[in-house]
Amino acid sequence: MENRENKRNKDNKEVLLSISNLKQYFPLKKDRVVKANDGITLNIYKGETFGLVGESGCGKSTLGRTILQLYPQTYGRTMYYGRSLDDLAPGYYLNTVRSLPKLREQWRELEKKKEQLEKKYEGLSEKEQFAGYEELDTARKLAEDAMLNMTKIVGGFVVLEDLSKVQTEFEKVYACSKQITTLGTSLQDAQVDLSDAEFALEKGRGSQSKVESCRKRVEEICSQIETKRAELAQVRTGIDAMREAYRNDSEFQKYEAFRDEGIDLARLTYNEMRTLRRDLQLIFQDPYSSLNPRMSVGQIISEGMKAHNMIKKKDERMQEMVLKVMEQCGLAPYFLHRFPHQFSGGQRQRIGIARALATGPKFVVCDEAVSALDVSIQAQIINLLQDLKEEAGLTYLFITHDLSVVKYISDRIGVMYLGNMVELAGAEDIFTHPVHPYTEALLNAIPTTDEEGKKELQILEGDIPSPVNPPKGCKFHTRCPYCTEICRQVVPEWEEVRPDHFVACHHKIRHGEDEEKS
Ligand code: SF4
Repeated sequence: MENRENKRNKDNKEVLLSISNLKQYFPLKKDRVVKANDGITLNIYKGETFGLVGESGCGKSTLGRTILQLYPQTYGRTMYYGRSLDDLAPGYYLNTVRSLPKLREQWRELEKKKEQLEKKYEGLSEKEQFAGYEELDTARKLAEDAMLNMTKIVGGFVVLEDLSKVQTEFEKVYACSKQITTLGTSLQDAQVDLSDAEFALEKGRGSQSKVESCRKRVEEICSQIETKRAELAQVRTGIDAMREAYRNDSEFQKYEAFRDEGIDLARLTYNEMRTLRRDLQLIFQDPYSSLNPRMSVGQIISEGMKAHNMIKKKDERMQEMVLKVMEQCGLAPYFLHRFPHQFSGGQRQRIGIARALATGPKFVVCDEAVSALDVSIQAQIINLLQDLKEEAGLTYLFITHDLSVVKYISDRIGVMYLGNMVELAGAEDIFTHPVHPYTEALLNAIPTTDEEGKKELQILEGDIPSPVNPPKGCKFHTRCPYCTEICRQVVPEWEEVRPDHFVACHHKIRHGEDEEKS
């Protein structure tokens, strides 16, 4: 279960995205589903590059797109901490607060059902328990989900018998936040108008009075925002005082621990998610098909800026802004009016990167961003991504099937197999002490040129099984050289084998020990 205490790692890095039990199933005919992601739990920290590796078809690209909500997730939670609930004031906040008594009733019923099922399966044989596992698992998840939807917003107040005062106070919080976000949009427009008026004056076309009136408007909105912020702080102080009264109530404190300022991406409306698109961007694998052949480089890069009202559609300074991004991405200014077919693969990928960075994102999914390029060009693009990350403080999810690529760019690496994360550790650690047999196999398949690399390459035998009908127990057991009976029957637990090194394998200790001894 999630807990808001976990919003920083041991190095005190803040969490940017917290993904829990994320499932992405694609329906097929006859009630069959492709389980592309099957319960992924992961934190991505601000400013890190998280490398995600695995063979083609393991679900890594689907995970990247599901985190960005390009595919609606089937189950789980994707919390985003790049902005707070107050910054966005999403509709689900108000809906939850307004229907709190009804939602709590539903939660209690789900809890009751879960307890009944737990009793029903208690004392049964392992085989019988296994038959009912799915039913019980679903009941537990539904109850947990219902509880989290409420407690993430109102925390421990969910246990109070009379919820009317809580509802009133949280509705006030929502009203203030909503007014601040609306004023924030007006401020953005007023700032664009002011900058327009100043530009016109500079070019001898405008008037000082126009500049003054625009400036006055900006100041007015800023002052209104200040007033609303003070109001919000006051309401929050009132809520904190109410909270203080339950300091010694263990039931209250138990649920209070789930209170969370993050944004639950899956619960946003289309328009709310669209606002966040500015923060969350994607660089595609194929630099050929991902660029519109009918649009010039300038149009491609400026599209996002216009869509997010960063500048007016016919503003003369658009070109200046586009040229700045192009320069950052190593694109010559005279490329501005050219079309995608006039470029090489590496240059096209630079255009794709410029397009993603034009809106000033916080998180970028690089989906096999260098896989389609020549090796020499790959290095250039990786260096460019590194430089841009440092300049803009970006966070990357770097998806690739090539472990040797992620080694140089990633802070941490996650290894995926057939929709599940099987190992996760620091980049250095995973290369020197791989614990999962699949990671070991991927590492053994990397060609090297140094002395040690003279050992024969070991190619992983067999194909990845179908995600429609994955193997029972450990999904890797059909290809694993260490497989035993337990692997064929029981799904291995996700455990921390060394600090910050997680793995899902029944025989992990043995592999870990083997490594340590060698
Ligand atoms: S659980 Fe068993 S089959 Fe799966 S990776 Fe570990 S040793 Fe191999």
